[in-house]
Amino acid sequence: MGYPIQLVGLEGQRALLAGGGPVAAEKIVPLIHAGARVHLVTPEVSPEMEPWLADVWRLERRPVRDEDVVGARVVLAATDDSAVNRRLVEAARAHGILAQAADDKPYCDFYSPAVVRRGAVAITISTDGGSPLLAGQLRRLLEAALPRSLTEVSELMVRLRERGLKGLAKRGRLLKALADPTITRLVDRGDTEAAEGRLEAIFQEEEEPFEPGSVAIVGAGPGSRQLLTLRALDRIQRADVILHDALVDEEVLELALPGTQVIDVGRRARSVEPEGDRREGRRIPLMLESARAGKRVVRLHAGDPFVFGRGGEEVDVLAEGGIPWEVVPGVTSVTAAPAAAGTPLTQRGLAKGFTVRTGHDAGGPTQGELAPEDETVVVLMGLGSAEEVLAGLAAEGRGPDTPALAVSNASLGEEQVVVGTIATLARNIRAAKLASPATLIVGEVARRALNEQPDAGLGQDHPEVIQATGGREAAAEVA
Ligand code: SAH
Repeated sequence: MGYPIQLVGLEGQRALLAGGGPVAAEKIVPLIHAGARVHLVTPEVSPEMEPWLADVWRLERRPVRDEDVVGARVVLAATDDSAVNRRLVEAARAHGILAQAADDKPYCDFYSPAVVRRGAVAITISTDGGSPLLAGQLRRLLEAALPRSLTEVSELMVRLRERGLKGLAKRGRLLKALADPTITRLVDRGDTEAAEGRLEAIFQEEEEPFEPGSVAIVGAGPGSRQLLTLRALDRIQRADVILHDALVDEEVLELALPGTQVIDVGRRARSVEPEGDRREGRRIPLMLESARAGKRVVRLHAGDPFVFGRGGEEVDVLAEGGIPWEVVPGVTSVTAAPAAAGTPLTQRGLAKGFTVRTGHDAGGPTQGELAPEDETVVVLMGLGSAEEVLAGLAAEGRGPDTPALAVSNASLGEEQVVVGTIATLARNIRAAKLASPATLIVGEVARRALNEQPDAGLGQDHPEVIQATGGREAAAEVA
């Protein structure tokens, strides 16, 4: 039969502890932490017990006697004589006092669970005395998993509740508070007052409107949740339904609260995934149905919704149907990919501007007045057709030695950069078996990446860099 876990208030209460050895020393710690008045009775004191003596309420150096239990709230018998321990527990029970004999299950009215404490929060772990080792390891696991801000957040929650502050139950607010990096940072710095102010602000903040029956067209960024905007996070956590692109990473979708309907309406390369078309066909009807059913709908796009994402088409349909909508911009791969490779899109002397194209029509004539060599070209959806894309750019007048690179999975753990030139990049991509999604960047701005040593700090996580200098047979070098 299991023991229900109760937390017994011991603050200012007398606790009798018999024994002065290492076992007793273990037992004394939670008692002291709980603020109990520890009455320690033991003929001898071990070195393990020494440090706690200063916190002991009363120390008597003699063998324990049955009468010692009188007036105690709890009794812990931890002498090295189990017969003495049992006798003391029986004496305590006769007085209706909860008692515990060390390592003697039938003589335990309670166990001391492993405890994880964070301010007002106490999480206790018990194995009914069966495996203190397991309980201890679980405790360490929880210690590591709980947000560090929980101490401050929990204490402020208590105070806010006492003051009867409204909004405590608002969905997502608490998670927001626990995840708020500002709070953790202020707590780290020891500025508790500012941290509390920030917490209070989170609870009192007027929420931005996101009405039932409306649609937020949201950019999820290139992959990493670290590149979400705060507004995107807010809408994701308040949504009833999320309709997402196939490209939106799991680590972003995990931020949705339990109970949110999360539906993949993604379109993948047709040759790879025939089912893609069918799902794509459900995208608009699902969005309209969900909004008309009074749900808060998030249409979650990879990158930015208005960059090759069909966000414009969706806005048209919503406007026509009289459904309220908003657009939340996202970090697009157009900028995230160059950032990952440490390659600017424009730089004085290297590029006066940039143009963004898709792999389907990257070979078209340059728009605007810039000479081809003055302009960086970013190509989305061009991995499969890299050969043609690069040939098209050459046909516009860019030399075969023009630096070029491909960034795959920008911002994610699998991030990878392949460098080359107009002449070599396609081959290098094949040799590296570069994975989708990837973005190509072509222009003088990429020269720095080209000249750098492999692994020389391109991108934060040191993506694997396949280096191939202009014109050489890069495939052999890679293999
Ligand atoms: N709306 C998106 C683009 C959708 S088109 C945006 O703003 O980023 C899909 C293309 O985006 C892919 O073929 C690829 O070229 C690019 N892409 C998306 N995520 C990427 C990433 N993490 N790294 C590199 N390229 C990415």
